[in-house]
Order: sequence, then structure tokens, then C-alpha cells
Amino acid sequence: MRLNMERTRIKRMLSSGEPGVRFRAAGWVRTRRDSKGGFSFIELNDGSCLANLQIIADWKTSGFPEMMGKIHTGCSMVAEGVLEASPGKGQRVELHADVLEIVGQADPAEYPLQKKRHSLEFLRTIAHLRPRTNTFGAVARVRNAMSFAIHEFFKQRGFILLHSPIISGSDCEGAGEMFRVTTLDLENPPLKDGRVDFEKDFFETPANLTVSGQLEAEIYALALGDVYTFGPTFRAENSNTSRHLAEFWMVEPEMAFCDLSGNMEVAESFLKYIFTYVLENCEEDMMFFKRFVDATVIDMLARLVKQNFEPLTYTKAVSILAEANESFEFPVSWGVDLQSEHERYLCEKVFDCPVILYDYPKDIKAFYMKVNEDRKTVRAMDVLVPRIGEIIGGSQREDDYDTLYQRMIEMDLNPDDYWWYLELRKFGSVPHSGFGLGFERLVQFVTGLSNIRDVIPFPRTPGNVAF
Ligand code: ATP
Ligand code: MN
Repeated sequence: MRLNMERTRIKRMLSSGEPGVRFRAAGWVRTRRDSKGGFSFIELNDGSCLANLQIIADWKTSGFPEMMGKIHTGCSMVAEGVLEASPGKGQRVELHADVLEIVGQADPAEYPLQKKRHSLEFLRTIAHLRPRTNTFGAVARVRNAMSFAIHEFFKQRGFILLHSPIISGSDCEGAGEMFRVTTLDLENPPLKDGRVDFEKDFFETPANLTVSGQLEAEIYALALGDVYTFGPTFRAENSNTSRHLAEFWMVEPEMAFCDLSGNMEVAESFLKYIFTYVLENCEEDMMFFKRFVDATVIDMLARLVKQNFEPLTYTKAVSILAEANESFEFPVSWGVDLQSEHERYLCEKVFDCPVILYDYPKDIKAFYMKVNEDRKTVRAMDVLVPRIGEIIGGSQREDDYDTLYQRMIEMDLNPDDYWWYLELRKFGSVPHSGFGLGFERLVQFVTGLSNIRDVIPFPRTPGNVAF
């Protein structure tokens, strides 16, 4: 066999493959079943689409009988033959093989993926094999389509992609606990006055994995206009929930000459663009999610792209929640941070659509958010969606030097650490805004999967860094 062999992807074969044409397919066997008439039916999947290629192998073909007993679920193989219209139901065409070759065997006594349905919990323990299941194949393809849609949306709007750093010397907003990056010997660290001496560390100062690319995106927005980052971010928060990961991907657009309402417009158009893209380009995988994961998932997306998101001030939201005839686990009053139960209540019970909450109390938000005239609230906005709650967090940034400086002092931050961030407000400052979208939360929302660990290939959560 040639490496890098010519093969036709099953997706192409099934959608445009002409009966009567000869093809070579290569992939992994899902099932094999033998008929009394001296035929075997092999279901082959190559990851290009959800559907399998049905291969008919006639035992009279030389070499086939010896091979058949070795073809099991999980083995990789190559099949060549002519595509024919299929008389059976479930597929339009099937491949009548005259060449079959096992590439790599899979011992059925050991191979953990069998035809029955496995639980998502079990599949997490075999993350090296779970992409070979229907669910994880579909997630990978939809995730891919969504990334593409994100880049396309921003490209159409003239945004520049910015590669912001992964290793950070600043704690952006104190958004969460951070992971330290160090080359110091933890068994025997250099000390100075009884404390670890970070001047001896690689960067000669403490460094962490980034929690956000926002501050760097602001730098570029104030030069290039509209930019976005799309990269991994890290939070060492010890929250074992179905919507938190220690490593997740974040999309962060940052726009110059843009206020909070412009920010909301971009966020809403952005989400609708992605939903539309998925509906138009991932039909087969979405039908699978609808059938096996969440029956409402397609209707929900189709409905959202036609709805206007509901803008609602934090203050109004709190009064709605306080008057709600609902027993929340966490009580609500003006000044508290809303929990996902509150966020979901607003989207699912009160408005039945995504809600954009804005003008939050300044004490529960980051130092860089622009303070409103009331001096009590800041121009923050969160986009809340049904089933998930917060999916986007953003704000208009404080662009006034003195106010920003004051906010740092109030929040016990050392302005010297942010000298460059402050200078952006000294030289050619402009109103600017941006937001962060948690990519995995969006994939959760789109696919209907309830646990965030199932929408990222290799989840990192407290106590879990395998694979
Ligand atoms: P939450 O309150 O839900 O923990 P946050 O307010 O701390 O989120 P932000 O700092 O606003 O989050 O981050 C922007 C977006 O990143 C959030 O709206 C969310 O979609 C996503 N996000 C935040 N933390 C996580 C995490 N640990 N895992 C996955 N996504 C996250
Ligand atoms: Mn947030």
C-alpha cells in the first residue's frame, strides 16, 4: 500500500458519488454483519461525516473468506470497488468491494467501543478512542465549523486576528485564580527575606498562564481599529461545574470607536451568524444531536436567529428576580452577582429569548469597565442564553485616564503594574469596547450537550489532565 494513498472521503462519495464509478475508501470499521447468501456488510466510517459507507463484500472474491474473521469493530481498512445504488434502506449507495485490505486490527476482546451506546462518563475515560463514536465525531465537526464561522464573521467585518500571548505577566482583572508558570525548583526554591525570589525565575518576575487576551487586544484595537483573539485561556478556579474548564478557548473582539450599544450589536450579530452557519452547514450532525442529545436543539437555534435579544439593565433584572415567584438557591438583592439559576430564569421563564444584561454594579465588575454617570454602575454587558446562562461577558472600557487610575486605587491594584494600559488613555485614547465569548459554552449551547467536558477534545478540570 502507498502511504498518503489516494482515497475518496466518504462524505463526498455519499453526497455526490455517482453509481457506477470506482472508488477507494479508507477508514475504521463500525460493524460487520454476514448474510447467509455469502456476503458481508461492513459499515465503514472515516470521520468525514456522520454516515457510514456500507461495503458489500462477496465471499466468492479471492482472499475474502480468510480475511472476514479478522474484520472487527475498530479495525482500520481500505476498500475498493464500484459504487452502486443500494436496494437496502438507510443508504442511497453502497460500495461493492473487490479489493479489501485490513490496515490495522482491533481485537474484539479488548477494544472498548462496542456497538451498544456507551455513557458519556465512560467515554471520558477513553478520550483517545471517543472521537470514533458518533457523538464525538459530530462534536468535532460542528466545533470545526463554528471556528470557521467565527473567523469568517470577523473577516467580513474587517477585524484583524491578533495572536495574544499565552504567558502573561499581569493578572488581567483578577478574572480568576491563575496558573503559575515557573522554571524554579519547587523542592528548593531560591529565597529572599524568607519568600520565593522570583528575580531568579525565568522571567525574573512572577508569570502566569493568561486568563484573557483582552488587555493586549485593547492595545491593538487602539492602532488597528477592530481586532479579535481566539485562543486558549486558563483559570485555576476550583469549580467542578458542567460549564467550567481549567483550559478553555475564548473569542475576544475589541473595537475602537465603539460604545456599549455597538458592542451589544456585534455580540448579537456574531451569535446569530454562527447559529445560521451551523444550521446551513452541519445539518447531518445537528439532526443527530436533535435525535440523541436534545430534541429542541435545532428549533432553538432557528428561533434565536429570528429573535431580537432582550436588553435589560441589571437593576431591572434584580427587581424582576426579587419579585419572582420562584425559590432560588441564592437570594437576590441589588449588588450581588447573579448565578446561573437567575440567568436561566430570565431567559427561559421571563423572556423566552437571549437576554443582554447591562449596567452592572461597579463593585462586582472589573476595574477597566467604564463607570456610568450614576457612579454606581459600569457599562458591562453579559449575554445570557437559555440552558447555559452567561455565554458572553463584555464591556465598554474606561477610556479616561484619571477615572481609570482612581478605579485601580479603589480596587487595590498597583497602577505601576499597568503603566502601559494607563498610557493608552494618555495617548490618543478613544471610546472602545469588547467582549469575551467562551467557545465551549457556545458549543454546548449549539449541540445540546449538557457537560462542557464533552465539547472540548481533551478537558482539563480539577484532578484531570489525562491524555
Ligand atoms: P462565570 O461567572 O460563568 O464563571 P466569568 O464571568 O468568570 O464566568 P468572564 O471572565 O466574563 O467569565 O469570561 C468570559 C466568558 O468566558 C464567559 O462569559 C464564559 O462564556 C467563558 N468562561 C469563563 N470562565 C470559564 C470556564 N472556567 N470554562 C469555560 N468557559 C468559561
Ligand atoms: Mn463574565
